[in-house]
Amino acid sequence: MLYCADCGSPLHFSTGSNTSGKDPRYICGGYRKRSAEKYCTAHYIRQPVLEELVLENLRQIVKLATEQEKEFVRLIMNYTLSKQQEDVKTLQKNLAPKEHRILELDRII
Ligand SMILES: [Zn+2]
Repeated sequence: MLYCADCGSPLHFSTGSNTSGKDPRYICGGYRKRSAEKYCTAHYIRQPVLEELVLENLRQIVKLATEQEKEFVRLIMNYTLSKQQEDVKTLQKNLAPKEHRILELDRII
């Protein structure tokens, strides 16, 4: 669910264990796999910081939903509509080569 903002690689969980104890964090997968195409720097986000950011974001969403319900519904509707339009474009893009293949197979048969 977590991706690096710089390289797009998934973030990997690390207990962050060392001599001073544990410091759980999420590290960029592009850094851990140095041989990968998506090489990235050694950055990470600490778990407590991430949890606080997610919690704060959820608070803002709940606040908007309760204080400005109509605006919240409008935003959700717009997001849903644009997501559905994206999905349709992707499906249509994937459909063309498959239709072409069906025609090829029909000719072969
Ligand atoms: Zn990265």
